[in-house]
Amino acid sequence: MKESYDVIVVGVGVAGATLAYELAKRGIGVLVLEKEKLPRYKCCAGGVTSKAAKLLDFDISEVAEDVIHKVSFTFNLGSPYLGQHSQPLIYTVMRDTFDHFLVQRAQQLGAVLRDGQKVTRIQASGDWIEVSTGDNIFRSRIVAGADGAYSVVARELGMKRRIEYIAGIESEVVVSEEELAKWKSLVQIDLGCILGGYGWVFPKRNHLSIGAGCLASKARHLDRLHRKFLNLLSMGNYTIARSSSHLIPTCTKGMVIWQDKALLLGDAAGLADPLTGEGIYNAILSARLAAPVIENSLMRGKVGLQDYQEAIEEKIMSELRIARTLSKFFIRFPHLAFRMLNQREGVWRTGCYLVLGETDYAAIKESKGGFKGILNRLFRA
Ligand SMILES: Cc1cc2nc3c(=O)[nH]c(=O)nc-3n(C[C@H](O)[C@H](O)[C@H](O)COP(=O)(O)OP(=O)(O)OC[C@H]3O[C@@H](n4cnc5c(N)ncnc54)[C@H](O)[C@@H]3O)c2cc1C
Repeated sequence: MKESYDVIVVGVGVAGATLAYELAKRGIGVLVLEKEKLPRYKCCAGGVTSKAAKLLDFDISEVAEDVIHKVSFTFNLGSPYLGQHSQPLIYTVMRDTFDHFLVQRAQQLGAVLRDGQKVTRIQASGDWIEVSTGDNIFRSRIVAGADGAYSVVARELGMKRRIEYIAGIESEVVVSEEELAKWKSLVQIDLGCILGGYGWVFPKRNHLSIGAGCLASKARHLDRLHRKFLNLLSMGNYTIARSSSHLIPTCTKGMVIWQDKALLLGDAAGLADPLTGEGIYNAILSARLAAPVIENSLMRGKVGLQDYQEAIEEKIMSELRIARTLSKFFIRFPHLAFRMLNQREGVWRTGCYLVLGETDYAAIKESKGGFKGILNRLFRA
C-alpha cells in the first residue's frame, strides 16, 4: 500500500516550507520531500526583505543574523550614497537555518517531512499522482513543485517553462572582528563593477556574504569580476570559507505554472524579481496564494488549479513585467541610476517603501509622472 496524502510538496526551500505550513494550518495532509538532508546549504545572500518577513505569521528574529537599517550604494566602489531608515529594511539569514526553521513550523502543525529523498519520477495514475524517489513511491491528489531553478516536477510533467536566468555567485568571507563590526546593520550594493548586474556585501553573524549577480547572458566574466570586487573592497586580510554559484530564474510572458493536479512555486515557477534577483518574497507569496486554491480544489473533490495562475498573474507576474522593463534601463545605464539616487532623496524613499511592502512597482508606474517620469528624470540626471 502506497503512503497517500492530500498534497505532496517537492522541495523544502522557502516556497515548499511555507506551502507545507499553510496547508498544515488548514488541516490538509501534506508530505514534503527534500533531496538533501536538513539543514541543507543553499547558495544565497540570505537577504529577507521586511515585506517578505511580514508575509509570515510568526517572528523570524531568532534566525536573523543581522537586521539592516543602512544601505551604502556605490558606483564602481567610488564615494557612496548612504541611505538609512529607522525601520528594519532587511533581515540577513543563513538559508540552511532559515529554511529549516520554516519547515519545523510546518512540522509542528502536522506536515510530514522526508529529507534525503530525491524525487526522480512523477506520474498520473487515475485520480492520484504518484511521486517516486530512489527508495519509495508516494501518492497524492495534488503535487506542488517547489524544487527550485531546475524543477524536476516541471520536467517530469512536461510543463514548458519560459524562463530567463540571472547568474549569481556568493562567497562566505571571513574577515577580522574589527572589519566585521564596521558592517553591522549595513549592506553595500555596487553598480558598475559587475557588467549587467551588481555586487553586494551582506553582513552575517560571523562573516560577510559577498557576491555578484548579472544576466546569465553576460555571465562569462562573472567569476573574474566577483574576485576583482572582493579585492577592491579593502577589507584587510580575509579568507573565503565557501564559494558557490547558482541560477536565478525569472519567468517571461505567458508562462503557465499549473496543470491538472500540479502547480509550481517560487524559483520552479521563475518568480524571482528580474531587477533585484530577490526570490524569497515571491517564493513565500506564491505559497500563500497556492494554499487557498489547493484547499478549495480538495474541498470540491475535483481538482481545478487554474485559479492559482490567475492569482499569480495578478499579484506577481504583473509586477515582474514592470521589474523586467526597469531592469533593462538599470543594466544599460547603471551610472545614470546611481546619479539619480544621489541627486534625489525620493529615489531612496521609494526604494524603502518597496522593501517595506508599502508600495509596489505598479503603484510607482501609476504615480505622478509614472514610468515616463522616472525615465525622463533618469536621463535628465
Ligand atoms: C547567489 C544568489 C544570491 C541570492 N540572494 C538572494 C537574497 O538575498 N534575497 C532573496 O530574496 N533572494 C535571493 N536569491 C534568490 C533565492 O535564493 C531564490 O529565489 C529562493 O531560494 C527560491 O526559493 P525556492 O523555495 O523556490 O527554491 P530553493 O530555495 O532553491 O529550494 C528548492 C528546494 O528543492 C530541493 N530539490 C530540488 N530538486 C529536488 C528533487 N528532485 N527532489 C527533492 N527535492 C528537490 C532543493 O534541494 C531545495 O531544497 C539569491 C540567489 C542566488 C543564486
